[in-house]
Amino acid sequence: MATVAFIGLGNMGLPMALNLVKAGHEVIGFDVSASNLEGLTAAGGTGAASAGEAAARADAVVTMLPAGQHVRQVYAGEGGVIASARPGALLIDCSTIDVDSARSVAEAATAAGFAMVDAPVSGGVGGAAAGTLTFMVGGPDDAFARAEPLLSQMGKAVIHAGGPGTGQAAKICNNMVLGISMIAVGEAFVLAEKLGLDHQKLFDISSKSSGQCWSLTTYCPVPGPVPTSPANRDYQPGFTAEMMLKDLKLAQQAANNSGAATPLGAEAAALYTVFANNGNGKLDFSAIIKMLRGAC
Ligand code: NAD
Repeated sequence: MATVAFIGLGNMGLPMALNLVKAGHEVIGFDVSASNLEGLTAAGGTGAASAGEAAARADAVVTMLPAGQHVRQVYAGEGGVIASARPGALLIDCSTIDVDSARSVAEAATAAGFAMVDAPVSGGVGGAAAGTLTFMVGGPDDAFARAEPLLSQMGKAVIHAGGPGTGQAAKICNNMVLGISMIAVGEAFVLAEKLGLDHQKLFDISSKSSGQCWSLTTYCPVPGPVPTSPANRDYQPGFTAEMMLKDLKLAQQAANNSGAATPLGAEAAALYTVFANNGNGKLDFSAIIKMLRGAC
């Protein structure tokens, strides 16, 4: 069993860290929020006074932070992880951040002699608690081989996407598909309503036809056809519209920087921006169907 520093104990990080405690690791946590840190210490982990202090005591460092600026600061800032970690420590960033930040932090870590991977996740808070996350991992083969056993204790699938930053690339490409497809499915239900076609009938037909997709069959944006979808609980998340917007903006940033044409990705980002600006950011992202109906 290893000593693991876990930095960023929020909605995702805390349940992930608790799964490492359950697996028998010594987990040393740090979070700028004292109450979030308490969640770990109450469950058998240890607290540290800074990210650097946690890293200095660990074989591996896992971070689960809000955005690129936090990741750059925690790793490359003064007294941060790169300056403080033990020689040979493995560094794993699970946050969803921009590809450029992921690559620059990985470069700084490699230059300082550390193995590092970016390993963003899919599966949400439920998957974090159940230990069923999917990790998409970017980094060299040897770093992936070292990270895989630890990540497997927090998830059901650990997939090597390629070199540094490709985990983040996979995450934003996947979520761009998700954002676009949710709008497409929402539009189809709104059109069906206008044409007098019953929700359940559209679902029964489309789920067995070429319109079949995750946004329809797992996360159906109207109540009824998929009883577990957020539409059945007044669009309580789930995956919030503001998180979808964050990922769509990351995709647009990457598209602009790389010169990729993503017109539907840009349109999806624009629609989720309006939806969030209308005060709906905390609703599940499937609630965008309400805006498509003109209802909010
Ligand atoms: P969160 O805001 O609940 O947690 C982030 C934590 O980081 C907070 O506890 C915050 O206090 C802490 N933090 C911020 N700056 C810090 C610093 N400098 N040092 C130490 N701790 C610091 O967010 P979350 O929902 O846990 O998401 C974390 C990451 O996971 C994000 O990048 C998000 O996009 C990604 N993600 C979230 C979900 C989800 O469903 N919530 C799903 C997939 C991916």
